[in-house]
Amino acid sequence: MFQRMIDWLHSASWLAAGMAFFAENLLILLFVVVGGECLVRGYRARPVSAPPEPVTALEIAVALGNVLLNTAITLAGWQLWKHGVIRFRTDWGWGAVGDVFALLLIMDLLMYWLHRLAHTPILFQWIHRMHHRYERVRPLTLFALNPVENLGFGLLWLAVISVYPASWLGMSIYMVLNVVCGAIGHLGVEPVPIELARQPVLSSVAGSSFHAQHHQDANYNFGFYTLFWDRLFGTLRADYAQSYGCPPKEISD
Ligand SMILES: [Zn+2]
Ligand SMILES: [Zn+2]
Repeated sequence: MFQRMIDWLHSASWLAAGMAFFAENLLILLFVVVGGECLVRGYRARPVSAPPEPVTALEIAVALGNVLLNTAITLAGWQLWKHGVIRFRTDWGWGAVGDVFALLLIMDLLMYWLHRLAHTPILFQWIHRMHHRYERVRPLTLFALNPVENLGFGLLWLAVISVYPASWLGMSIYMVLNVVCGAIGHLGVEPVPIELARQPVLSSVAGSSFHAQHHQDANYNFGFYTLFWDRLFGTLRADYAQSYGCPPKEISD
């Protein structure tokens, strides 16, 4: 099965690969929106964000545009792999587990700084402001990105896997976790109980409350998967732990 997929990737035409990658990226969007909305309904009694405004045509158009852009980035990765720039290992053991942790930490650190850079006045005005138009997050907000910003993240990912020959399995698990973390960050409700979120490892995982706070207070919580870099560089919101799982002031007053 795995070998058949590799063989197909070697021999596929641009059209076949483009259609397959478009379908893959569209499925990711549907997974985020449908799975996310199920969680929103299930945990609507635990809001961490005010209810979102009705979906606009612009939001849907931007999301679909980013699906096309993600398809183009996947095609670029496919070509880099065919030309030997991106390599991956085929082991399935502990090395793959190590890859998942390494990729999560490396990408989290690089995206943390890219995100801080996006909050400098000029870049915020030109690029990142679009994502922050949606203070009242919903799962679709994950795709409400300026295409330049999305391209920046995509190129960063291609650069990392060009210099780090991770295992196929490790990369695949990382990519699933990347989508899951992104969706959870934009739920607007908190599905993880505070008791669980206070446990040693989980207390360093970035979740719904963490990213909802960034949308409400853009000077804090820049990380994507963990709280490590915000803690290290002093950008974790001071009341992050106390406000965990709490509705924002505008709806709790
Ligand atoms: Zn966001
Ligand atoms: Zn931001």
